[in-house]
Amino acid sequence: MNQNWHATLIRHLLLLITLCLLGGLISGHYGWSLTVGLALYLGWTLKQLLRLHDWLSHHKPDEAPPDGYGLWGEVFDSIYHLQRRDQRVRGRLQAVIDRVQESTAALRDAVIMLDSDGNLEWWNRAAETLLGLKTPQDGGQAVTNLVRHPRFKEYFEAENYAEPLEIPSPINDRLRIQLNITRYGNNEHLMLVRDVTRIHQLEQMRKDFVANVSHELRTPLTVIAGYLETLLDNVDEVNPRWARALQQMSQQGSRMQALLNDLLLLAKLEATDYPSDNQPVPVEAMLKTIQADALALSGPRQQRISLEAQPGVSLKGSESELRSAFSNLVFNAVKYTQDAGDIRIRWWRDEHGAHLSVQDTGPGIEAKHLPRLTERFYRVDSSRASNTGGTGLGLAIVKHVLLRHRGRLEISSVLGHGSTFTCHFPASQVATRAR
Ligand code: ADP
Repeated sequence: MNQNWHATLIRHLLLLITLCLLGGLISGHYGWSLTVGLALYLGWTLKQLLRLHDWLSHHKPDEAPPDGYGLWGEVFDSIYHLQRRDQRVRGRLQAVIDRVQESTAALRDAVIMLDSDGNLEWWNRAAETLLGLKTPQDGGQAVTNLVRHPRFKEYFEAENYAEPLEIPSPINDRLRIQLNITRYGNNEHLMLVRDVTRIHQLEQMRKDFVANVSHELRTPLTVIAGYLETLLDNVDEVNPRWARALQQMSQQGSRMQALLNDLLLLAKLEATDYPSDNQPVPVEAMLKTIQADALALSGPRQQRISLEAQPGVSLKGSESELRSAFSNLVFNAVKYTQDAGDIRIRWWRDEHGAHLSVQDTGPGIEAKHLPRLTERFYRVDSSRASNTGGTGLGLAIVKHVLLRHRGRLEISSVLGHGSTFTCHFPASQVATRAR
């Protein structure tokens, strides 16, 4: 109400009172005249209020307000304009929401909004084709009931969404999907699902190719290595000048065989997500044999290799896979630690799970190399590796085996002082009963 209306209202009231006083003057009853005048005014005001109430409660969206007189007419118009403005703002907001919904609905990637309990709130069309969600029946259902892959349930409940998860689509085994979960707002989840079948197929082709080549190369290499050995045994009869060349050929042949074996093992590890076995593996006994092998490998180099293993702590998983992972770590320590160095193997269990650490007093590794160490063929310095005849695949194998056993590898090292490689396994992976 502006200043004008204040003045008009006061003028009207003054006029009313003047009229009442005039009435009083004529009739001689001032009191009654005032009462009647004010009562009439009150009645008229109440009537306008009722009209406003009726209009507010029953009017159709675009229906104009009833005609009002004076101040009430102004009030009707102001309310009507406020309503129109509100409608326009709502219309604009709805248009924005519609456009966002239309564009996300048209996306080829699935977008799913989940509430803080993981129940479905909203999803686009692609979610129906990639995950088989049904509109509207699935609204409000728990996502873990609809995407029933065990790895998804585990991933969703672990609430660590730093890395995306890749699983087969629940409605079509041949489709491979990648899920990315982001938390927003009040612990709600936004889940993005992409079809990565093509990338997966290419990856699969690469793996198959490497596995097939490695497999095919094995037989010819075995034959060549066999003949080289025979030639080496009889080198004096053939030509003694060839002894050195034959020795080197045989050495490199063995290296190639080791490389092929590691490539095949990696291909096997990559083929599935879970270990080939899930039996309790008595780690203490395994470490004893690895220690004995390490001592044999170390030979005359006078390295001290100690083992402290907590007895009776077993790991669920595949014995052969765990053996190759642990022996890779211990043999690396033997290979890279100087003569008379110390190597300490420890195996223990605590409230977080079970842990294996292999500590050495070797040359150590510069911090910049640590994040890349488990990449295939990554070497800190090539001269160090060629001296030791490593394949460059050892730590990649360790990483894969640990992943399959839900473990992780931690590497710490101080240049010139040695390195520590620690495998951490969660408590769920520790077998309760020793074999
Ligand atoms: P390799 O077969 O060459 O040993 P790995 O994957 O086992 O390949 O190791 C990768 C690189 O990490 C090695 O080339 C080596 O430079 C470094 N490395 C691994 N273990 C140790 C260790 N205990 N001390 C120092 N360097 C190490």
